[in-house]
Amino acid sequence: MKKIGILGSTGSIGTQTLEVVRNNGDIQVLGLAAGSNIQLLEKQIREFKPELAAVMDEEKAKELAVRVRDTNTRVSQGMDGMLELAALEEMELLVTAVVGMIGIRPTVEAIQAGKNIALANKETLVTAGHLIMPLARERKVSILPVDSEHSAIFQCLHGENSQGFRKILLTASGGPFRGYDRERLAKVTLEDTLKHPNWVMGNKITVDSATLVNKGLEVMEACWLFHADLDQVQVVVQPQSVIHSMVELEDGAVLAQLGTPDMKLPIQYALYHPNRRFLPGDRLDFFALKELTFEEPDIDTFQGLAMAMEAARVGGSMPTVFNAANEQAVRKFLRREIRFLDIYDWIRSSMDRHQAVRDPSLETILEVEEDTNQWLESR
Ligand code: NDP
Ligand code: MG
Repeated sequence: MKKIGILGSTGSIGTQTLEVVRNNGDIQVLGLAAGSNIQLLEKQIREFKPELAAVMDEEKAKELAVRVRDTNTRVSQGMDGMLELAALEEMELLVTAVVGMIGIRPTVEAIQAGKNIALANKETLVTAGHLIMPLARERKVSILPVDSEHSAIFQCLHGENSQGFRKILLTASGGPFRGYDRERLAKVTLEDTLKHPNWVMGNKITVDSATLVNKGLEVMEACWLFHADLDQVQVVVQPQSVIHSMVELEDGAVLAQLGTPDMKLPIQYALYHPNRRFLPGDRLDFFALKELTFEEPDIDTFQGLAMAMEAARVGGSMPTVFNAANEQAVRKFLRREIRFLDIYDWIRSSMDRHQAVRDPSLETILEVEEDTNQWLESR
């Protein structure tokens, strides 16, 4: 039995990972971690019987420990709890499904302990890819992509020399506001933003999809995962979200991975790689689909993508500033404290004041995050 742990088990990716585990019946879950949702975590503990459960919120962790006293699951708390979970002795693979760059330290800890990573938590790679990728090579661990586009690229490159591709064609749905101009974007509400046309996901990534910040993060994620230059990644809007991404090879051949939008496919592929399993669910019906369409992204209006490319080009600590400012702005937007277009202003002004540091250490990355947050708060 494969033994896994899940960071962020109560979220969208976390619960779908447990669904895949439940459907297959041959994976043992050794650890589960969440931010504060102990109601759901308790249910998961009773069903999957992990040896350890970690809760970020220390009060909630204490409450959970009381609630699950009758089980064999130990409860740990805070960042130390996450780190303990990341290095559980018998665990082979860690699914990183927390949201935000809070995932950096546990991810590094898991790689150091020799665990393979099924990576959903893209913010970690965007801010610390220069530390994570070499460390993974050194420890001989695999970083298996869960993000649907990156899983698609990974599947397309299966059997191909991964250095041999010319171009990555990263597809994007365009989000709920595709076709809008700036004037219309100025008026959108939180409710409009949370209605993604094709995917049901956590709130933060849903907002990121609407601003195209998500696609910007994914461009950087692709560069790290596939050792690609920024100029080798092209974003293609594919509004039906049927083509999950493509690669163009040396001889001009283009390989694509298609499917219905269902995150359980990339999750299951990462869990069982290189094997495939039956996955219940809808299949593509090309006659019902009738057409696939493509567009260029509008990066003048959706500045999230343009600013991400700029941050990636500067490199060093700039992607951390891009990401930290976005995380902070999205938290505010979700609390209705700022408007949609303010997200772009928050990122822009944070990047403008920052002097990028080359090759930042883990400590520097966390300091830059803190500094960006403090500055945004104090304006
Ligand atoms: P959700 O918001 O649905 O879930 C986030 C998870 O992280 C929850 O378990 C949450 O716990 C936990 N969490 C939140 N804050 C903290 C914290 N400070 N410390 C510890 N745990 C915390 O997010 P998603 O599942 O949508 O996304 C997770 C990651 O996967 C993101 O990086 C996202 O970009 C990526 N991803 C998601 C996709 C999707 O379809 N959802 C697709 C591709 C990538 P609690 O419930 O207790 O708050
Ligand atoms: Mg994606």
